[in-house]
Amino acid sequence: MADRPYIVGNWKMNGTRAMLSEARAIDRAAQRYMKAEVAVAPPYTLIHAVHREAEQIGIGAQDCHADVDGAHTGDISAAMVADAGAKFVILGHSERRADHKESNAQINAKIGHALEAGLRIILCCGETLATREKGDAEAFVLKQLKASLPKIEDAAERLTVAYEPVWAIGTGKTATPKDIAAMHKAIRGLLDETYGPEVSAEVRILYGGSVKPENAKEILSIPEVGGALVGGASLSSESFLGIVVAASETEEA
Ligand code: PEP
Repeated sequence: MADRPYIVGNWKMNGTRAMLSEARAIDRAAQRYMKAEVAVAPPYTLIHAVHREAEQIGIGAQDCHADVDGAHTGDISAAMVADAGAKFVILGHSERRADHKESNAQINAKIGHALEAGLRIILCCGETLATREKGDAEAFVLKQLKASLPKIEDAAERLTVAYEPVWAIGTGKTATPKDIAAMHKAIRGLLDETYGPEVSAEVRILYGGSVKPENAKEILSIPEVGGALVGGASLSSESFLGIVVAASETEEA
């Protein structure tokens, strides 16, 4: 699991069928950069179509509902995204926490259903600028994770953590290498405590927040950075593949 950097594109609320050509281009090129594991999370409406196009890359969903089924107009369950072809789901993204007031309890319920549906999880965490400026970033992120890390034996196969400082998402700002290294080290410590060092070593910790081809190599070379969760730069195959190339060229790769 942990031997290859994991580069995941989060398309957010972007993409119609016209974007399928980008998915195809990413998939074809990913076959040349096997040192990196590549995946995209398109909007729900494209999961099935991207799944049918893709031979090499992983396909995931950006969220799922906290219930298995029922009267939730407009919502989508974990089993539905799995049925459409998703192999993983991103949960706890800061945009979901902010826009939909998602609580840790809801995120935990989503994690449970997603695991039951056979999905892998990318669990997001990250502090706001105000929290960082108060000097509370590490304590905040560890508290967020402690509340949501699933108690599972197969965390090595099923779990990825994404550290995404909220103030770095979509802003063009990135955390300093020193701050990224310190946060990833702290997260690794918590994963060691939770799952034991052997299993923890297999759980990749991604960095997310304005990762682009120009800064990817530096970020991906930071100790404990096992890949990147990429928003804006994943929307064109050219920029996303620039990150994939950087990942396949980093020394850890
Ligand atoms: C994200 O939303 O997960 C993200 C990292 O976005 P961006 O790369 O655009 O900052």
